[in-house]
Amino acid sequence: MNKQDTNIFKAAWTYDEAPESTDHIQIKKIYELFIDGKFTKPIKGNYFDTINPATNKVIASVAEATTEDVDVAVKAARKAFGSWSKLSGKERGKYIFRIARLIQERAREFAVIESLDGGKPIRESRDIDIPLAANHFFYYAGWADKLEYAFPNRTPKPLGVAGQIIPWNFPLLMAAWKIAPALATGNTVVLKPAETTPLTALKLAEIIQESGLPKGVVNIVTGAGETGASIVNHPDINKIAFTGSTGVGKYIQKAIAGTNKKLTLELGGKGANIIFEDAAIDQAVEGIVNAIFFNQGHVCCAGSRLFVQESVADLVIQKLKNRMETLIVGNPLDKNTDIGAINSKKQLQTIENYIKIGINEGGEIYQPKCKLPKEGNWCAPTLFINVSQSHRIVQEEIFGPVLAIQTFRTIDEVIEKANNTPYGLSAGVWTQNGAKIFHLTQKLEAGVIWANTFNKFDPASPFGGYKESGFGREGGLHGLKPYLKFE
Ligand code: ADP
Repeated sequence: MNKQDTNIFKAAWTYDEAPESTDHIQIKKIYELFIDGKFTKPIKGNYFDTINPATNKVIASVAEATTEDVDVAVKAARKAFGSWSKLSGKERGKYIFRIARLIQERAREFAVIESLDGGKPIRESRDIDIPLAANHFFYYAGWADKLEYAFPNRTPKPLGVAGQIIPWNFPLLMAAWKIAPALATGNTVVLKPAETTPLTALKLAEIIQESGLPKGVVNIVTGAGETGASIVNHPDINKIAFTGSTGVGKYIQKAIAGTNKKLTLELGGKGANIIFEDAAIDQAVEGIVNAIFFNQGHVCCAGSRLFVQESVADLVIQKLKNRMETLIVGNPLDKNTDIGAINSKKQLQTIENYIKIGINEGGEIYQPKCKLPKEGNWCAPTLFINVSQSHRIVQEEIFGPVLAIQTFRTIDEVIEKANNTPYGLSAGVWTQNGAKIFHLTQKLEAGVIWANTFNKFDPASPFGGYKESGFGREGGLHGLKPYLKFE
């Protein structure tokens, strides 16, 4: 091959940039609180910035709700509960269907804003987050007039006002997981998005306004932990639904102990992804990548502990390293991007700290030679081998693109290792042997177990954890129950 041919060859194997355009979206400079059907200024007049983690530039200024604002929101939700809870299920369903359709109509705008505000690749926000959010509303809209069939011979009644606090990893999707079942069951809502990713929840507020949903049925208040605590501690809230870190989950559980508030917690995880020697290895390698690098590893059910059967370990690890060399890290709005920006500087520090801990504890690190952008928060996909059960990077949730790899010989050994964690949210099993799959799904202590796939979500399928991963289920028929009482 002469030099010119080599250049042509190289050029053929690089991707041109394919950025999604931002000219079709509308982001205001300032966002107010959404209370009682209107956008309202915060009583104390404080605002905070929401930042694009790929550039660290400010996108918009967002109202900070204090205890007083939360109180106004709860009063609006309480007032609205009176008529909303009496509306027929069929009528409630119509509003929820309308919200679902409006999300679909504005899906492209929502996808871009989700990627701008949170750093996730546009391919994921476009193909996963936004469509799934719409699907959750469609799914629960369908249940609204069928509650008596969901719970035959019982009389389900709504609880009242639900306080809902969500994290930054799937901002719109988590809002949908929370709001859709609450509305279907006749409750009203005060929801707080995470402080680093408030924009799509506020855009959802626009859709809610447009849908004609009666005022006060959904209220969206923005702010950080203190705002969340004001919701948790408000005396007129009947139910708290929280998704976030195990630390804050424990704090919330303590805070509402002794009250009549109902609680569901969806907390951290340290999912085991188990590859047997009889697995389809190439598919399994794709599954490993999806399990840990999806959404930069900011996934509570991520497959962050990989267990590979010893006989295929060298092969799997080599193929995984080769695959990691091809992952594209960078601009979240580029359609080629596999791994976007780390959600915040704080989270990047946490991840970098864990990588240091992994090295100091004797783990062998591997990172591909990928180019990271200069501005913004970035972390190369990372794996560790030569780690054992007692390593902190094996035990603790990192919430980033960092995989800890161990090997095993027998089924009993891998079950014991996989269950040796304070968490119990997810697991994955890769094998061609169906009996092995059923055997493991009985023995693994995890709320969701995927077989020959990973990180697949569906509104009809319940999701939730055991042990320190929390309690209660979201999704499916199970997801209705935490919003109902039975008389
Ligand atoms: P992370 O540590 O990954 O940021 P958090 O659990 O702190 O996750 O955040 C999840 C959600 O909980 C966010 O909306 C955050 O503002 C909220 N939050 C944080 N601290 C508290 C608290 N003390 N009470 C209620 N909500 C809180």
